[in-house]
This record gives sequence, structure tokens and C-alpha cells, in this order.
Amino acid sequence: MERFEITVIGAGVVGLAVAAHLSSRCSSVLVVEKNTAFGMETSSRNSEVIHAGIYYPRDSLKARLCVEGNRLLYELCAAYGIPHKRVGKLIVALDKSEEEPLEKLCANGRSNGVRELEIIGRERIREMEPHIKAHAAIHSPATGIIDSHSLMNVFLEQAEAYGSIVSFKSEVKEIRREGAGQGYRIGVIDAAGDRFDFVTRCVVNCAGLNCDEVAAMAGFDVERKKYRLNYWKGRYFRVIDRKSAYVNRLVYPLPHSALLGLGIHATVNLAGALRLGPDHIPIERDSVDYSVDSAAAQGFLTAAVTYLPFLEAGDLVPDTAGIRPKLQTENDAFRDFIIQEESAEGFPGFVNLIGIESPGLTASPAIARYVGGLLKL
Ligand SMILES: Cc1cc2nc3c(=O)[nH]c(=O)nc-3n(C[C@H](O)[C@H](O)[C@H](O)COP(=O)(O)OP(=O)(O)OC[C@H]3O[C@@H](n4cnc5c(N)ncnc54)[C@H](O)[C@@H]3O)c2cc1C
Repeated sequence: MERFEITVIGAGVVGLAVAAHLSSRCSSVLVVEKNTAFGMETSSRNSEVIHAGIYYPRDSLKARLCVEGNRLLYELCAAYGIPHKRVGKLIVALDKSEEEPLEKLCANGRSNGVRELEIIGRERIREMEPHIKAHAAIHSPATGIIDSHSLMNVFLEQAEAYGSIVSFKSEVKEIRREGAGQGYRIGVIDAAGDRFDFVTRCVVNCAGLNCDEVAAMAGFDVERKKYRLNYWKGRYFRVIDRKSAYVNRLVYPLPHSALLGLGIHATVNLAGALRLGPDHIPIERDSVDYSVDSAAAQGFLTAAVTYLPFLEAGDLVPDTAGIRPKLQTENDAFRDFIIQEESAEGFPGFVNLIGIESPGLTASPAIARYVGGLLKL
């Protein structure tokens, strides 16, 4: 039976970043991906923002890996010519009552190690973004946007250049522990329905929306470990072309207190288009669909017009949607990323990555290093 040192399950941005990093340290890495190409799920359905790391509690994995990932992403962009733009971001306070939470948020960002954060008043805001309405704002110059497809392509090419194999149309259906220290036997079904099995010493579970199912497949007690995911849909609306040019930076309201989402915000993409979203709607796991109902436009308009007063009915066009693989339920407080080497559970060399929602794209190169550290590579 064929043997690999490391098997990475999932070729989203995180799986590919992990594969690129580990393959520079280990000559036998296999990536298995159920879809026909990389990044067909959450990694291609997001805001493509390079976050700075302002929001997350100090010392959380989200904070640490976001701040490190931000730096690593800009280095990767420079080294490999990945399209990106350090556009900067404003988080706005609408009136005096929001000054205090804005200051707290700014202090949190600074304590996370985010550099160059400053609070600016109406005048500076007007100079930077004459069309937005705000009482004060946090200016984050380190926030940017990136072409996530190009980033994933760079990770894929790096992994393949080191000799890793990336196998598409390969869905992991069974994971069995071999004898002590013998690794894991993985059963995969290809597009034709044929099964192939192989043995691997280590497994890195980067299965995104299916990471809890993959963990359960291997024998983890997902409920006891609190690995069960909740799906939260996030929809976007595009602003008509004529008004896209009214905003140059990313503009966010203050976030939801438990960080369920960052609030309906305005992002520009590399082509200069302005989008609003994502919102956050809990959905059932078996009802994943990426459609955006045009009837939701009014809710987006009501939320955004508070800081983008130039928006009017008819300016918003339904765009894409993505699904967040969240550990948090509606009533939960903040939940961090889980990135865990599972020797203590009797699964040596098995690394679970659970609940890798935002800022997973930004954090991806830092997550890869973290996983390398857990595997002592
Ligand atoms: C609406 C939205 C906006 C976001 N905005 C941002 C942002 O602006 N900035 C940011 O940093 N982050 C953002 N994120 C978060 C970011 O997109 C994710 O954290 C990141 O894409 C997760 O990547 P991943 O590789 O873990 O998961 P995925 O991209 O979901 O990849 C997982 C892969 O595993 C494969 N897979 C699953 N099960 C199996 C199996 N059994 N066998 C084989 N393959 C399998 C899937 O097919 C998939 O390709 C956003 C997320 C959402 C939903």
C-alpha cells in the first residue's frame, strides 16, 4: 500500500498554505481535495481583505496568527507578484456615543501588535473619504486587499515544486488508526466512484466546512471536544458602478459585540468595485446555497446608509455569498480557532483545524507555520 509522511485534507487557502510550508520540510506530502480544483468553497467566497488583527482578544490564536499572517502575506505578495493593494481601512463611530467603544477597539488592536493605528476626527475623515459620514474613525493603514486565487496558486506551485502531490476529485471517506505509531489508513473515493486507500504518518485536517465531519470520521468525539460547527451564511451586494468610485478604502462600522460578524461593511476589490456585506445568518448544514435574495437589499441599505449616505434604493445588486464555519452559536461569546495536535487524545500526528473562519485567509501562512511547529517540522 502506498505510504505518505503527511496528508493534508482540503485544498482551500489553509490546506494549500500548510502543504506549501510542510513540503519545504518533508519530501512526502499529499493533498486530497474533493472538488475538481482548489479553493472552490470558502476560500473563494470571502471579502479578500488582508486584516490587520484589530478585533480579536489579545493572545488569542486569531489575533496572533492574523498579525503574523498580515506581515507574511505582504512579503509573499512582494516576492511572487501577487495582486494586492494596501488600501487601508476606516472603522467608523457614527456619533459621540460610539467614541468610547472605538477607543477600546483601537487599544485592543494596539495591544495585539497592530502598528500605525490612529483615531482620526471628522476633518481627516473628510480629506480621506469625502463621501462617507462619520464622527470619528480608527484608521488602519496595514489593512489591504488581495487576489486570493493568485495567493492559492502560489501556495500550490510552491507545494508542487517541492514534490508534493495534489489530488483533486478525491474525497476522504474513511480514516482508521493503524497500530501504535503506524499512522493512519485513509480511504478516498474519486470522481468515478473508485476507492483507493493509502497510509500516512500524519494527517492535517483542513476540511473547512467539513472539518468536524472529518474529525468524527477519524474517531474524535466531536461533541465532547466542542468541535461541532455552525454554518453562518454571509451575503454581499454590489454597489452600482457609478457610485463605486465614491469610496477608496475599506469602511466598517463598529463590530457586533460577540464578533459574530464585523457588521455590514464596504469593501473595494482590486478592480475598484464597491461591495457591501457580508451579513450573518445562521443556516442548517443541509441547506447550503450561495444565492442572494434581492429582497435583502433594503436591510443592507438601512445598515450602510448610516455611514454611506450617498446610497439610495436601487443602488444595490445581489452579488455572491459565503458560508462561515463557525464554532460560535448565536448565544456564545467569542470562540477562537482550534488548531490542535491530538496526541493527548491518542491520535499522534493528527492535527485538527476547526472553525477556521475569518481571518483565516489573512492568517493562512501563519497557520501553516503554527501547524509545522505542532508537528515539530
Ligand atoms: C463571507 C466570508 C468573508 C470572509 N472574509 C475574509 C476576509 O476578508 N479576510 C480573511 O482573512 N478571511 C475571510 N474569511 C475567512 C476565510 O475565507 C476562511 O477562513 C478561509 O477561506 C478558510 O480556508 P480553508 O482552507 O480552511 O477552508 P475552505 O476554503 O473551505 O477549504 C476546505 C477544503 O476542504 C475540502 N474538503 C472538505 N471535506 C473534504 C473531504 N472529506 N475530502 C477532501 N476534501 C475535503 C473542501 O472541498 C474545500 O476545498 C471570510 C469568510 C467568509 C465566509
